[in-house]
Amino acid sequence: MTQALTLLGATGSIGASTLDVVARHPDRFHVFALTAHRRADALLALCLKHAPRYAVLSGLAEDAALRRRFADAGCRSELLFGAQALEQVAADAGCDVLMAAIVGAAGLAPTLAGARAGKRLLLANKEALVMAGPFFMRAVREHGAVLLPIDSEHNAVFQCLPQEAGRVSTAPVRRILLTASGGPFRATPLERLSRVTPDEACAHPNWAMGRKISVDSATMMNKGLEVIEACWLFGVPPERVEVLVHAQSIVHSLVEYVDGSVIAQLSNPDMRVPIAHALGFPERIASGATPLDLAALGQLSFDRPDPERFPCLGLAYAALRQGGTAPAVLNAANEIAVAAFLDGKLRYTAIPRVIEQALECMPAAPADALETVLEADRGARRAAADGVAALMGRAA
Ligand code: NAD
Ligand code: MG
Repeated sequence: MTQALTLLGATGSIGASTLDVVARHPDRFHVFALTAHRRADALLALCLKHAPRYAVLSGLAEDAALRRRFADAGCRSELLFGAQALEQVAADAGCDVLMAAIVGAAGLAPTLAGARAGKRLLLANKEALVMAGPFFMRAVREHGAVLLPIDSEHNAVFQCLPQEAGRVSTAPVRRILLTASGGPFRATPLERLSRVTPDEACAHPNWAMGRKISVDSATMMNKGLEVIEACWLFGVPPERVEVLVHAQSIVHSLVEYVDGSVIAQLSNPDMRVPIAHALGFPERIASGATPLDLAALGQLSFDRPDPERFPCLGLAYAALRQGGTAPAVLNAANEIAVAAFLDGKLRYTAIPRVIEQALECMPAAPADALETVLEADRGARRAAADGVAALMGRAA
């Protein structure tokens, strides 16, 4: 019997890598559901190739003409419309494995629905844990979901930690060290940063990713979100998670034990490696990634992050220490600021200002229910949009 996969965010970068790995193992997996937001043609092409039971267009309302177009093209998948359908295919009894690869806060509700349905949950959507860490992890525990991290750093940490009764243990761990490439502006003169363009910010030196996460990698907000994600995933306090700049993106993260031993996971930067790990776990399956040739690389370098170059990292630690809804506010304000930067409305160096202002004007409340978190998310988006409007066009 093959395992049935629901893939939320099938038309994205993680979606493509997941389908590539799955197609290498037809003896293990078949595709149960694929979702896209609005890109109907891209979804149709994937449906014709992978023949899922369900296809979801979450950002579109019922559309009879589109339904006919899918049928005329020979697509046999049942087409569903609207955001609610995401939760339906995530929690459906026919789904064994859920890959949560929607970008941004929109991924929270369907990912949570999968956790509550006790699925084997492959988590790429870091925003779910950033926004709703406490009750997301509670849902995983209470409903017996199996949570496997896809983010390369967290997948690396997972691989470096000891397993006890199917769960990782951090008791003998002194520190978790998350590596960060430093992005495309690691060495750019600081005074030039206010003039960098969206295309420059998205030109990541090592990884090919979606545009939002590429900007987050440049600002290091991505690493900030990952620090928060790591604290929830592995149940450790912020002071035990540190960030190390490692320009080559070969060491994906490290775990330091109380005896001084440090264990790291290495591979070429290719998301198919963590995806194959989580799909196959506890077995190992081929990913299609090029084998690592350390001798050809010659050198690996490590450095401390510069707080002046990467103020977003400090903002993420501050929100994490504040707790409650503060990380949800951080995440939402960042989404608005990054979207404005990608639209050419905001300077790169104004991104942290917008986030800081939103954090200042939104008092943190306990993050104990989905509605509280979503309310904080909405409030932060309004505050950040005001911040963007105030800063638009101004030199930052
Ligand atoms: P992407 O932009 O390439 O793809 C995003 C997917 O989400 C698309 O399928 C899109 O249709 C869907 N989507 C977008 N907005 C939506 C909405 N409002 N509702 C429903 N669906 C929506 O993004 P990506 O780079 O594949 O990243 C996906 C997630 O994985 C993000 O949370 C990201 O932080 C995380 N992640 C990505 C990488 C990577 O290498 N790309 C690495 C680690 C973690
Ligand atoms: Mg990562």
